[in-house]
Amino acid sequence: MTAAMDDTARLDADAPAGAAAPLPSRDTRKADFEAGKLRKRLRRQVGEAIGDFGLIAPGDRVMACLSGGKDSYALLDILLSLKDRAPFDFEVIAVNLDQKQPGFPADVLPRYLASRGVPFRIETQDTYSTVKRLIPDGGTMCSLCSRLRRGVLYRVAGEIGATKIALGHHRDDILATFFLNLFFGGKLKTMPPKLVSDDGKHVVIRPLAYVRERDLARYAGLMDFPIIPCNLCGSQEHLQRRQVTTMLREWEKKHPGRIESISRGIATVVPSHLMDRALFDFAAVRATGRAEPGGDIAFDVDDGIERAVDAAASLPGIAVRHR
Ligand code: SF4
Repeated sequence: MTAAMDDTARLDADAPAGAAAPLPSRDTRKADFEAGKLRKRLRRQVGEAIGDFGLIAPGDRVMACLSGGKDSYALLDILLSLKDRAPFDFEVIAVNLDQKQPGFPADVLPRYLASRGVPFRIETQDTYSTVKRLIPDGGTMCSLCSRLRRGVLYRVAGEIGATKIALGHHRDDILATFFLNLFFGGKLKTMPPKLVSDDGKHVVIRPLAYVRERDLARYAGLMDFPIIPCNLCGSQEHLQRRQVTTMLREWEKKHPGRIESISRGIATVVPSHLMDRALFDFAAVRATGRAEPGGDIAFDVDDGIERAVDAAASLPGIAVRHR
C-alpha cells in the first residue's frame, strides 16, 4: 500500500452497495452468476488501483470516457458499482465523442446510458473527415484520430468541471505500450495509471491498470454490452502495435507467469541496476564496507512467480520452459 492510500481510502469491493447495477435480465442464471463473480474481481482490482495510485479522491467528478468498446463499458460499469460502495462521495459522468465515422450508431450509447441512469454527455465533432483529409489512403489513422479525440475530450472535461478523466486502458494495453516504447522508442516508459494531460490542465486516470484484457472481453460478453466496433472508419491497428500484442499473447500461452512477472516488473523499478544517470548517481557509488543485499545480483527470481510457474507446469497439457 502506498502513501496515496492515505488520502484516497481503498475502495472496498466487497462492501454492501446501496444500489447495485442490475445484471442483464436474460434467463441465463449461469451467465449472471459468472458475471457477478467476475464483476467482484474487477471491482477488487479497480479498487486496488484506485487506492495504490490515488486515482480518485473525495469530491472528485470523474469523467468516464466511453467509446462504445468493451473496455470503456466495463470501466463505466465498475466505476458506478464502486461509487455505490465507496467510503467517500464522488461523481461519475459518462462522455462519448461521436466522431462521425461512417455507420456509427448514434442511438446506442444514449439509450444504454439512459437505461443505466447515468448522467452523460454526447459530444459530436467530425474528426473523421479531418483525419481522412490529412492521412493518405491506406495509412494508419489511429494516432491522429486519438490525438484529436483527446483534444475534444479535454475541452469537454473543462466544460463539465471534471476533476479526473478516466480512460479504459487495461493492463495489456499498458504492457503493449511498454514494449512499443522499448522496441521502437528506446525508452522504458508506458501509459501510467495517473498522469497530467498534455495541456497540463487535467488529471488522466486509468482505473483498469490491473485488469486483464481477457477478463474485460469475458465481462462484456456476460453483461451483453451493446458494443460499437472501433474500425468503422476502416483503419487498421498500427503494425508495430499489432506485432507487440501478438507477441504478448503468444508469451501468455507458452509461458504462463511471464506477463504477470512483467506487470510486477514495471511496478518494481531498481534505478541502481539500470543505466539512467538521471535516476541514479553512479559517479557517487563507493564501497560501503558492509554487505549489500541487492548488491551485484543482476537477476532476481521472484519466488511467487516461480511457484506460479511450477504450479502451471504441473497442469496436464501445459509446457513451461524454465530459465
Ligand atoms: S480505428 Fe478508426 S476510430 Fe478507432 S482510433 Fe483508429 S482511426 Fe480512430
